[in-house]
Amino acid sequence: MCGIIGFTGHKNCVPHLLDALSSLEYRGYDSAGIAYSTDEGIRIIKTSGKIEALKNKIKDYETAHCNISGDCGIGHTRWATHGEPSDVNSHPHRVRDLTLVHNGIIENYAELKESLAAKGYTFLSETDTEIAAAQISLRYSETSDPIKALHKAAEDIRGSFAFGVIFDDYPHKIYAIRRDSPLVAAAADGCGMIASDITAILPHTRKYFPIPENAALVIDGDEIFFFDRFGRELDIPEEEVTWSTEDARRGGYPHFMLKEIFEEPHALRETFASKMVGNLPAINSKILSSRIGTIHIAACGTAMHAGLFAKHYIEKLAKIPVTVNIASEFRYCDPLLDGEDIVLLISQSGETADTLASLRLAKSREIRTLSLVNVAGSAIARESDEVIYTCAGPEIAVASTKAYIVQCASLYLLALDLALKRGMISAESAEKMCSSFVRDICSGISSVFDYSVTEKIDKAAEYISARRHVFYIGRGIDSHLCTEGSLKLKEISYIHSEAYAAGEMKHGTISLIEDGVPVIAIITEISTAEKMISGIREVKSRGGYVIAFVSEEIADKFEIPYDEVVSIPCPSTHAHLPIMTALQLMAYKCAVKLGLDPDKPRNLAKSVTVE
Ligand code: GLU
Repeated sequence: MCGIIGFTGHKNCVPHLLDALSSLEYRGYDSAGIAYSTDEGIRIIKTSGKIEALKNKIKDYETAHCNISGDCGIGHTRWATHGEPSDVNSHPHRVRDLTLVHNGIIENYAELKESLAAKGYTFLSETDTEIAAAQISLRYSETSDPIKALHKAAEDIRGSFAFGVIFDDYPHKIYAIRRDSPLVAAAADGCGMIASDITAILPHTRKYFPIPENAALVIDGDEIFFFDRFGRELDIPEEEVTWSTEDARRGGYPHFMLKEIFEEPHALRETFASKMVGNLPAINSKILSSRIGTIHIAACGTAMHAGLFAKHYIEKLAKIPVTVNIASEFRYCDPLLDGEDIVLLISQSGETADTLASLRLAKSREIRTLSLVNVAGSAIARESDEVIYTCAGPEIAVASTKAYIVQCASLYLLALDLALKRGMISAESAEKMCSSFVRDICSGISSVFDYSVTEKIDKAAEYISARRHVFYIGRGIDSHLCTEGSLKLKEISYIHSEAYAAGEMKHGTISLIEDGVPVIAIITEISTAEKMISGIREVKSRGGYVIAFVSEEIADKFEIPYDEVVSIPCPSTHAHLPIMTALQLMAYKCAVKLGLDPDKPRNLAKSVTVE
């Protein structure tokens, strides 16, 4: 969610803190702040609003006083959970002899607050973070040891956290501890740093230390020491980032979202290279080779929609029953899980709090877990029994595009792989299906970027961006594309939209169709095309404005009573993902036409690391 950064060493940390906060902006935030050591003690500058507002506040301070500089500092972009976005609620928070930044949620903050108040602590903000800072300060007063204080406070706290702390007694050192919230550490050029994710450290180094759950650490110059909760020093091996700094930049595109949509063919090729041998699917997984009862998918948002896509193919090809679950429901619904079942977690970031909780629930029931994630070393990747990486590269825009496409493609290969392993299809037909899938979706998605298609998408976006409500209808797997297409539109253009299995329209939604209401109709299935066309007629006869997204084959074979059509040059069997790319592009264009920033939609964050 929010971003944490810490920097210590021989350089002035302030410009590095600000640069790093900017590279973490994509995670979503509403306030920003820094704290740094000076000869007169720790100084905090923080504000609600954007990093630009923080920079202005720093400038004002420098005009009124002196240039700010310090060799040790921490910084934060906040995504408020407890208390409104305001200057006082912004991080860093200072309690007695320490200053702290926090990502996560302290669930038992109310009871901790009461007991701390009884001990004389007073609080300035409405945040749960300030309570955690006080709890650490209390433990520090008892132990006089920052690492022990962090571990003891962590035992007192229920909830998720990554803390970056400077103790007044050690003004040149950064202390940190994490549980369920992301944080990495790194050292370079005589300096040490912590960051919520790797993009913030890439300008300094490609090497980093993943911080284990509940491990505390201290950074002294470029030396980093890790300790478990018994105070034993841990030997954490350094890892290397495979993404380049350039990968994490916009590369000439006006927005990350557009860049990422255009990267889909490349991301797909990377994914295929890692999941195929010759023309056959080759998913490296012992779990998938064993007996499987039911596959329970748990995921959130777009990743959950990729799960719906997976259900279609796994059931169709491998004949294994699949349930698709919203992770925030799954974790609390006491799901029926059998010993031979597996739980499949899907998450781009690998840090999604509800998905992580679903994984832990499965493990507590001794159910095997397999995850599909994009970020190596993320919590879900580390904790699941087996992990499959999607190889999409960094996804910066909040609205997921290439990660979804690559999740679906990986899941299709997984379904084929399962079908092959279970003898449901021959190696010969698996080979045929695999190579036509690879060929068709790569060329289909590339053809969405041809002018002949983008001009149609642009025209559709022109119409939609001037409307308040939009409906998406489709049948079978197309109805799942509708769900994701609709989510994309609302996420970034703030236009209300709903997705329906087309047959359901007449059981309710059709009452909302009146003159000019846009209805996006997706048709890729020849077997249900005529049913779709009847549904479209029903919409048209009530004044609806129909924009059809179809495969070229469907456009040629059927007379569709549309107002506009976006026809994708791709065989019908594999037109789903190219159509999804076209829907993503349409949502992007709607946001841009409305003057909105598609990369940073209001109220949303890239990786949802709080419940
Ligand atoms: N729960 C804390 C707050 O509301 C931290 C939120 C965050 O992760 O930014 O201040």
